[in-house]
Amino acid sequence: METYGKPMPDATLPEIVAHRFADLYDGAPGVLVRAPGRVNLIGEHTDYNDGFVLPLAIERAVWIALRPRDDGAVRLYSLHHQEAREFALGGREREGRAWIEYVKGTAWALGEAGHALRGWEGVVGSDVPIGAGLSSSAALELATARAFAAVSGVDWDPAAMALVCQRAENEWVGMKCGIMDPMISAVGRAGHAVLIDCRTLATGAVPLPPGTRVVVMDTSTRRGLVDSAYNERRRQCEAVAAAFGVPALRDLSAAELEAGAARLDPLLARRARHVVTENERTLAAADAMRAGEAALLGRLMNAGHRSLRDYYEVSSPELDAMVEIAQARPECHGARMTGAGFGGCAVALVDKGDSAEFVERVSARYQEATGKEPRLHVTGATGGAEIVPVPG
Ligand code: ADP
Ligand code: MG
Repeated sequence: METYGKPMPDATLPEIVAHRFADLYDGAPGVLVRAPGRVNLIGEHTDYNDGFVLPLAIERAVWIALRPRDDGAVRLYSLHHQEAREFALGGREREGRAWIEYVKGTAWALGEAGHALRGWEGVVGSDVPIGAGLSSSAALELATARAFAAVSGVDWDPAAMALVCQRAENEWVGMKCGIMDPMISAVGRAGHAVLIDCRTLATGAVPLPPGTRVVVMDTSTRRGLVDSAYNERRRQCEAVAAAFGVPALRDLSAAELEAGAARLDPLLARRARHVVTENERTLAAADAMRAGEAALLGRLMNAGHRSLRDYYEVSSPELDAMVEIAQARPECHGARMTGAGFGGCAVALVDKGDSAEFVERVSARYQEATGKEPRLHVTGATGGAEIVPVPG
């Protein structure tokens, strides 16, 4: 583990963050907070169609050790950036896209929601890789919100805080993220994925099948095309919804779509076919999880990948290679690309006892097939943003 300073070979991230706090500010932090990254098990490109997603909070998280201050200022040291930044509460100045803007934006959005805030000084550390599709930004926002709530005596309503953090990212940072990332970082539950209805924002936890682990498989590829392709897919979905006279593709069943598909441009029909079947698969996946059926959940994940590859056309040769290699392993129930696509991560559901073997074999095969070095993380599902005891 990187320690940024003193060697602490066996220290955990919360210990490192708390120690660094003591070095920088003298004395122990009064509060330690944690907010997780996430991976989406199924329900891809459904969020902007008012549909369903099924993410889980992963074991990798952002941690902030902090102590309140009474001068209305926030001072934060980032282990990743190895620098401190400071700002006054109520200020409006921005420093471009600097990392502190996620913190300032969260303070701004909390203020807009009517909360009176107290300042604090702290240290932030994280093992959520940045820009790898695991939503380090939402984890940072939720950890920040949890920190402010702790020192300012604000009641912690996880779903309301997810909306505050989404607003920070959309309106302050200027990134158009959906509700999924902040919501799962806020409401995650140990051992469970969370079905989120992106229209009503209703959430329901469903258990991971017993004896399974989730593996996040980073292809080590990133594509620049994502934004333009994403906007194009959104427009295509809106066009089909308009053609059927419904508010969003969420309101169309697969049977209704097929009954009217002949009237559609074939490309638009394929795009819509992915979204409506993906919504149905996501609801079926939640049912499979409630029934403890790992094999069925895995088959739905596999079908989701084929749909993203063939109908929505957002996969890539590397994502396809990773998914096929994973699916061929006997300990794997199912695998699919996850996130917007064209690169980034895939996700697999595997038997717990064989997850180390899975990681070893899939890493080696992927490297042979593509010449790229993948990064695989095995994870269970954890709880959402929380205050944790300061390590002694
Ligand atoms: P991701 O897919 O990981 O969310 P984003 O580009 O949305 O990628 O957000 C990454 C940004 O979030 C970083 O560039 C940085 O500004 C901020 N960030 C994430 N993790 C940290 C951290 N540990 N410390 C400081 N800033 C962080
Ligand atoms: Mg992000």
